[in-house]
Amino acid sequence: MDTAHRILQGIGVSPGIAIGKAYVLNRARIVVPETNILDEDSLDEECERFEAAVSKAERDLEELKQRLHPDFKEHIKLLEVHQMILRDRLIYGETLDLIRNEWINAQWALVRSLSRAHERFSAIDDEYMRGRVADVDAVGERVLRNLAGREETPFEGIRERVILVAHDISPADAAQLEFDRTLGLITDIGGRTSHTSIVAQSLNIPAVVGAEQSTKLVPNGEIIILDGTTGRVILSPTEEEIKHYAERQEELENYLKQIARVAHLPAKTLDSHWVRVEANIELQEEVVAARDNGAEGIGLYRTEFFFMNREILPDEETLYHEYRELAELMEPMAVTLRTLDLGAEKLAAWFPRLEEINPALGLRSIRLCLHYRELFKSQLRAILRASGVAGNVRLMFPLVSGVGELLEAKKVLGEVREELTRQRIPFDHHMPVGVMIEVPSAVAVADMLAKEVDFFSIGTNDLIQYSIGIDRANEHVAYLYEPLHPAVLRFIKQTVEAGHRAGIPVSLCGEMAGEPLFVPILLGLQLDSLSMNPRAIPRVKNLIARSRMRDCRRFVRKALEMTTASEITLQLQEILLKKFPEELRLFELDAVLTDASLHRKRRLGKDRWKF
Ligand code: PEP
Ligand code: MG
Repeated sequence: MDTAHRILQGIGVSPGIAIGKAYVLNRARIVVPETNILDEDSLDEECERFEAAVSKAERDLEELKQRLHPDFKEHIKLLEVHQMILRDRLIYGETLDLIRNEWINAQWALVRSLSRAHERFSAIDDEYMRGRVADVDAVGERVLRNLAGREETPFEGIRERVILVAHDISPADAAQLEFDRTLGLITDIGGRTSHTSIVAQSLNIPAVVGAEQSTKLVPNGEIIILDGTTGRVILSPTEEEIKHYAERQEELENYLKQIARVAHLPAKTLDSHWVRVEANIELQEEVVAARDNGAEGIGLYRTEFFFMNREILPDEETLYHEYRELAELMEPMAVTLRTLDLGAEKLAAWFPRLEEINPALGLRSIRLCLHYRELFKSQLRAILRASGVAGNVRLMFPLVSGVGELLEAKKVLGEVREELTRQRIPFDHHMPVGVMIEVPSAVAVADMLAKEVDFFSIGTNDLIQYSIGIDRANEHVAYLYEPLHPAVLRFIKQTVEAGHRAGIPVSLCGEMAGEPLFVPILLGLQLDSLSMNPRAIPRVKNLIARSRMRDCRRFVRKALEMTTASEITLQLQEILLKKFPEELRLFELDAVLTDASLHRKRRLGKDRWKF
């Protein structure tokens, strides 16, 4: 294998190096064996096997239905439709007929009857019935999986420490990774701020996403090298390469140990400007990492992960204990609880798939909470109750698109407050309420929103996605995902100014906050606090302590006149080279930037072929 074919280039999303055996997860579509049945007894057995697979699917659907919150009426109905399809004559009856009449195995017969049903449904002149084709497929897949006896959990079977290679891993699956067995993570698809990447970072697992074809090209069980900083994956490494990367790994670890000392000091610039550095967490367990890495509070708790990791919807009492414990663990530092940001790629087992064509623009986040009021209220009650314990809880609404939506959310919060007051349940009457700025419309009316809240937190992961118009989890447009796009910088500036004019603090909690390369820009934009992955805190604090606010402001003024992200990046690179050369060298930040542009050329080249 020549060098060019041994290196896969993806997007480095969680820094660090892993050298180890690859474990390629095969979640390919179900293989359908086609075999003939040779005698009468086997024919009966095959029909019984099919019946058992259908009955299991029926039971599973019933269980799913029971787990659904009664708020989800339309989804309960959908599961009932699936149960009906399971026993429909077109599929159930036809499959049994095909097994008996043509002496073929159940999978083969089912696929044939599904294909006929597919044709018939598609031909019906009724939009509703045509829309049921997807349901027929979903039901068919469920039964086929039962017939194949496929396991649902992707990580079962991993017995040693491996580098996991998968087409994709959902954020919920990623949160269940056994990190002592996972040396690294590689996926075919995904982007820098997809939630899978965020979870990999928080678990401190080096990761590369968007390494297209990795599941096809990486040989299962062979030693590979993964560089989560540059996004490189090296197949069949030579002795020298292994030695080189092992040395780099050691060098990186030594550097991180050395800067750990500054992590517990306040992040103050050389000219005495203090910026609060906080942690983003997805699970309560990360509080240890947040405290160990010197977080000065929790700037963002993504509460939806607690909902995603369980089979049933947690009730108010469970949530209250979770939030109360978190507040007590961080006391006296502040804990910012963001209300449920479910939807799009963040799905839960108990939560029905909404079958949206464009989920990132669909019923997600605050919209979803305002739709399912009871669910929202039970979370708000739990948050308010927890606020009364140590007085350090802050609440934040995600993805608010304008004042109307914010007022609606505040109205529900007001109702919950009244309820608790009536019931004489204590809570913090002064609990700060903030809003995330994640969509361009919120930036445009930031001055109006500012009058209604106590703080802003800019969610650049989504703000970049919605302002540039690209899916943050899509590797095909990852090259356009530019945090330094002049539009993004202007949006941050406008938000900070609107917040400060109204006298409220402005924080930034997107992944951008934890990227040391951006420290000069973020300081110069005058954010009051930065909230990031706990592991990024020491690196960011180290650079803040060695920066001068005056220089950063001057740089931002210059940057805001530049017309492209590349121009700003080049200038930033120069600053880093002059002031923080070891960051640049150790984390190969120049290579990251070059790789990003290579990545871009490669994609443009590929697209030319396509069209
Ligand atoms: C963001 O969008 O920047 C953010 C912090 O929220 P999330 O990544 O959970 O969407
Ligand atoms: Mg967001």
